[in-house]
Amino acid sequence: MPTVQPRIRRVLYARLSPMDIADLATRFSLTLPPWVGEEIVDVPEVLASHQDRMALVHRLAARNFREGNGGPFAAIVVESGSGQVVSVGVNVVLSTGISSGHAEVVALGLAQARLGRWDLGAVGSPAHELVVNWRPCVQCYGATLWSGVTTLVVAGDGPELEEMTGFDEGPMREDWAAQFEGRGIRVVTDVLRDEAMAVYRDYAVQAAMGDAVVYNARAGEG
Ligand SMILES: [Zn+2]
Repeated sequence: MPTVQPRIRRVLYARLSPMDIADLATRFSLTLPPWVGEEIVDVPEVLASHQDRMALVHRLAARNFREGNGGPFAAIVVESGSGQVVSVGVNVVLSTGISSGHAEVVALGLAQARLGRWDLGAVGSPAHELVVNWRPCVQCYGATLWSGVTTLVVAGDGPELEEMTGFDEGPMREDWAAQFEGRGIRVVTDVLRDEAMAVYRDYAVQAAMGDAVVYNARAGEG
């Protein structure tokens, strides 16, 4: 192990105050906005079809950007067989100040928090699926892979989302769906696709009026 010589250490650190854990953040949380409770109050806790599940996602996404919590994105985790909703998530980047607070990360984390385990595909567990209103971004691609879900249901997967909203989805692999399938995650696409586009169109109109924030990092560059 290399060590810093005492004399050098004195020179380096003499006038610098030491770190103090009291100055550092030691936790962060991604919290659902209160309006979500109001929005789901008339929604059945069992949603039988992919269309029923996606309709809830679209409803949450459409409200989320208007409420100012983040982008027009929502996701839910559902027991694939029974249709029991395990968690709901919306994008909370703006309301939390945490850049990873995408809808998929929120929904997966809240499902895992509710069930008390990191693997939604654990032995003895019912199969779970993530339902989201577009193909995940590069971050959520990884989050989905590691979550234990066995099905991913998306409203669409083309370039339209980035074109309409201006959000950067990152360097996704062309074969992202095949990669999921190769790891035992079935991909279901084009569920209520037109309805997803309608939400993005509304968002784009609001953004054009200056009433919505596209929060890509490094926005000041280039
Ligand atoms: Zn994402």
